[in-house]
Amino acid sequence: MKPATYFLKPGQTNSEEYYKDIRTFTDAVILKAAGSITPLVEEFKDYLRNYKLEDIRETEEYILELLSFGILWRSYAYQALSVIHAPFITMARMAEWRKKHQHIKPFIDFSKGILTTLFLLPKNSKKTQVPIPTLEQIDHVCKWFEATGEFREQSLRFIRWRAFWGTKTTGELLKIFAEIEEFTKWFDIRSSEAFEKYTENVENFLMNADEAYRWREDRIQCSRTRLEYHLNMVGAELMNRAFRAEFLQTKNRVVLVPGCMRSKSTEECKAKKVKEGLICEGCLAQCRVNQLREMGKKHNFEVCIIPHASDLSLWSPHEGRPKRGVIASACVTTLVEGGWELKRYDVPAQCVLLDYSGCKKHWCRNNNDIPTMFNVRELKRINSDAF
Ligand code: SF4
Repeated sequence: MKPATYFLKPGQTNSEEYYKDIRTFTDAVILKAAGSITPLVEEFKDYLRNYKLEDIRETEEYILELLSFGILWRSYAYQALSVIHAPFITMARMAEWRKKHQHIKPFIDFSKGILTTLFLLPKNSKKTQVPIPTLEQIDHVCKWFEATGEFREQSLRFIRWRAFWGTKTTGELLKIFAEIEEFTKWFDIRSSEAFEKYTENVENFLMNADEAYRWREDRIQCSRTRLEYHLNMVGAELMNRAFRAEFLQTKNRVVLVPGCMRSKSTEECKAKKVKEGLICEGCLAQCRVNQLREMGKKHNFEVCIIPHASDLSLWSPHEGRPKRGVIASACVTTLVEGGWELKRYDVPAQCVLLDYSGCKKHWCRNNNDIPTMFNVRELKRINSDAF
C-alpha cells in the first residue's frame, strides 16, 4: 500500500514507534516553550482571569494555540492579506451549515469549492515575505481563517489572544511576535528531523495539488504543508495531555470513527442511521469497525461512525446526565480542529490518529478506498484509567 501523504508505521507492522517518538518530541516542545512561550501563556492566563473571560485551561492548550498561530501565520498570512474583498461572513456561515444540514452538504461543498478558489485563494496571490503581524492584520487573517471553514476553532482562539495583545505597546508586541517566530522556527527544524520518515510523501503529494484540487471544497484541507502535518501530530498529543484529567472522570465512552474505516462502501454497509451518525450492525466479521465494536463490549466503549465534517455539538453533555467521554479518530489534517471543537462543546475528549489517510473522496487519486485504521494499543492506553 502506498500512502497518499503521511504514514505512521513506515517499515513496521504497527505505529508503536511513532507513539514513542511523538511523546518524546512533545516533551521537548514543552521544555523549549518554558523559556519563552510559557511566560507569555502565564501572562495571558492572568488577563483571562482578571477579565473573567474563560475558565482557565491547561498550559499545553495555550502553548498549542501560540504554536498554531506562528505556523498558520507563516503558511497563510500572505494569501489572506492579499484578499481584500470576499464574502467572508457568508462563507463562514456555509461552513457551519454543512455541518448542521448534511442533506444539503453536496450543494454547499460545490459552492464552497468555487468560492474558495475565486475569493480566498486567487491566482494572483503571490508568496511574499511573511510580515510581522499587526493587530489589524490579525483581524483580517482571522476573518479569512473563519471563511475557509478549516480553521474556525483556531480563529476563535486567536481572536482572544488578539484582544490580549491589544493591551500591549508596539515595543511589547514586537517582542511577543519575535518570541513566537523563534519558537516556530525551532519547531520547523526540529519536527522535520523528528518526523521525517512519517511525512516523507507529503511534498510529493503537494506537487500537483494546486491543479488537482482547484475548485474543490477540500482544496485547503488537502494542501496542508508538511509543517502543518507536524503541528497537528504534536497538537493531538498536547491536546490529549491537556484534556486527560477530565476524560478520566467519565464512565461511559464512545469511539468515533470515520466512514473510511469500513470494509464496504457506503452503499453496501448495513450500519444503522442514528442522530449522531451510524451504528455498525456487524455485517462483515473482518470489517475493522465491527472488530472495534466487538472490542468495545469487553473494554467498555461504544463505536459510532461519523461522516466527515459532521456536527460535533451532538456530543455535548445532556443536562442531568453524566458526561460521556469521546475518543475521536481522524486523519492528521482534521483531528486537531475536531478536538478543539469538542472542547468548545464541553465534551471530555481524547484522540487517536489514523495511521494513514485512505478515503478516495479526499486522498486516493486512483479512485480506490483504502480502509483506514489506527493503533489499537494506543486506543486501549487512552481508554485505560491506569495509563
Ligand atoms: S461490519 Fe459494520 S461498519 Fe462494517 S460494513 Fe458492516 S455494518 Fe458497515
